[in-house]
Order: sequence, then C-alpha cells, then structure tokens
Amino acid sequence: MPVAEKKTEAPKKFTPYEPAQGEEYMNEKQLEHFRQILLGWKQELMEEVDRTVRHLQEEANNYADPADRATQEEGFSLELRTRDRERKLLKKINETIDKIDEDDYGFCEACGVEIGIRRLEARPTATLCVDCKTLAELKEKQLGG
Ligand SMILES: [Zn+2]
Repeated sequence: MPVAEKKTEAPKKFTPYEPAQGEEYMNEKQLEHFRQILLGWKQELMEEVDRTVRHLQEEANNYADPADRATQEEGFSLELRTRDRERKLLKKINETIDKIDEDDYGFCEACGVEIGIRRLEARPTATLCVDCKTLAELKEKQLGG
C-alpha cells in the first residue's frame, strides 16, 4: 500500500472570492469564505491523520520477518514525522479559525496591512504580508547560517 498523498497543502477546490467594488476588506462574507476553506482543509487533514494512524497499525501487524524491520522502521519514522506535521498544521488551522471568530483575520501581524484575499486563498493560515514574510525568511536564513 503506497503512502497516502499528503494533505498538508492548502486545498485548491473552492471558488475564488470576487469582492464587489468598494467592498470592505474582511467583511462578514469574506470571513465566512475563509472559514469554509479552513473547515474543509481541517476535515481533509483529520481524515488524513486517521489514515496515517490506521496505516501504522496495519504495518505493525504485517512485518513479522526481521529482514523487513529496517524498511518498516524507516516507514514508521516517516509517518510519525508526517503525523507531527499534520498535528501542528491542525493546531494552526484551529488558531486561524479562532482569529476569524474574533474578527481578527487577514491582517499582517507584523505591520498591520491587509494580507490580501488572493494570498490568503493560497495560504489561508498566513499571518504575515508578503513583505514581512520575505523579511522573516531572510532573517531566518541568516540566523540559520
Ligand atoms: Zn507586514
């Protein structure tokens, strides 16, 4: 059984939001649009986590032969890392839905500008505008050596 396709990418199956002219940024309709995207993504991820757990349990039963053990352990650590990533992402999605509930969604945490509908559709959990994100990544690279 091949390792299931990862769902850690933001979902692409939604109709891009077309704001009316002069429409207020992050009004009730826009917040609802992103709430739906995030809820759908969360659902996909939770199903994926279920599959990963089931797969780990199946694997544990399937490899009785010691010769297969190395392969098995490699698969295990890979799936555990995947699970860890999924868990972190789920937490992030939940936090983002909280922000929507608190009407605090869609603005850059560093400089306060509008992050923008298109960027948020590509990355619904984004908390920084493109400029601040680029800056943060540059700093990270410098610190990382
Ligand atoms: Zn910013």
